[in-house]
Amino acid sequence: MMKIIFFSAQPYDKEFFNQYNDSFGFELEFFETQLDSQTVGVITNADAICVFVNDKVDAAVVRHIAKKGVRIIALRCAGFNNVDLDAAREYNIHVCRVPAYSPEAVAEHAVAMILTLDRKIHKAYNRVREQNFSLNGLLGFDVHNKTIGVIGTGNIGKAFSKIMHGFGCRIVAFDVATDKNPEMSWLKYVTLTELLAQADIISLHCPLNEQTKHIINAEAIDLMKKGVMLINTSRGALIDTPAVIEGLKTAQIGYLGIDVYEQEETLFFRDLSEDIITDDIIQRLMSFPNVLVTAHQAFFTREAVTQIAIITLQNIQELLLKDNLLNKAALLC
Ligand code: NAD
Repeated sequence: MMKIIFFSAQPYDKEFFNQYNDSFGFELEFFETQLDSQTVGVITNADAICVFVNDKVDAAVVRHIAKKGVRIIALRCAGFNNVDLDAAREYNIHVCRVPAYSPEAVAEHAVAMILTLDRKIHKAYNRVREQNFSLNGLLGFDVHNKTIGVIGTGNIGKAFSKIMHGFGCRIVAFDVATDKNPEMSWLKYVTLTELLAQADIISLHCPLNEQTKHIINAEAIDLMKKGVMLINTSRGALIDTPAVIEGLKTAQIGYLGIDVYEQEETLFFRDLSEDIITDDIIQRLMSFPNVLVTAHQAFFTREAVTQIAIITLQNIQELLLKDNLLNKAALLC
């Protein structure tokens, strides 16, 4: 029987993958631990490993799993910045991902962050529970008629733009590959500098790579409108976090919503409620009243997790059985 070892496995991963594995019949083994060069030794015999956003599949890990006979690295996510693709190529290991499971799940979470920050729902919820029915301090703004800057107009950026267009917003976008979609003629491509200068709300939907690392740095923040809202549901390192903290302190940034954080691998997906957090940057961020942090949950809908399980198992089956993936977009190498 073909065996797949899962890393960073949460109870919901076990539930969904076990449920959909019935029709595939793989042997599944789940490890809660994150994969890195320290933990890779737990792999005994496996045809494939299945990893998530914070597993570190660097050259050392790839070398190790190649020796153990692993033939496939299956990402159960869209982003793949955490896998050394050159090393995988060198050792003839296939790498596949789930390019689009539910772009709407992530887009809708970005919208939820915008409305929460704008209308201060997080504060209102707590206030009413304490029988404080006053509105002082809860004043928001109309999203209607505002300019939304979308950085990266792939699957998620497009889904997000459509929702915001429905709110009656003007959409300006920056992408290295402009897509003249006639159904989205209302979306206007501009330069990054123009986008930063024009947008009332900026939402990041590009992948993390060498060009996009710290795309939001001190210089970019200086170009933004005073009091801008910045939303990042993509990858933490798109943002230079200390620069954003400075921007929040001077009120250049009026609101920040992040579902991802550069150092999230030591924090997210765990209950640390009894621990002392030694990361002063996340603590500073969480202390601002106009900052909303969620722990990489934008993908986390029933529909998305179902698609992730089915597509990941299909990817592995096609690669194992035919060594030829039908859904080419899923194959990274
Ligand atoms: P996609 O590949 O469909 O789209 C990415 C877009 O970014 C493409 O249009 C690409 O041309 C553009 N791009 C690439 N380099 C760029 C650059 N330097 N500047 C501007 N644009 C650039 O990907 P997607 O499915 O829309 O996902 C986008 C990102 O969202 C993923 O890479 C992943 O990091 C993140 N994501 C987060 C979650 C979550 O739960 N928070 C879930 C899924 C995906």
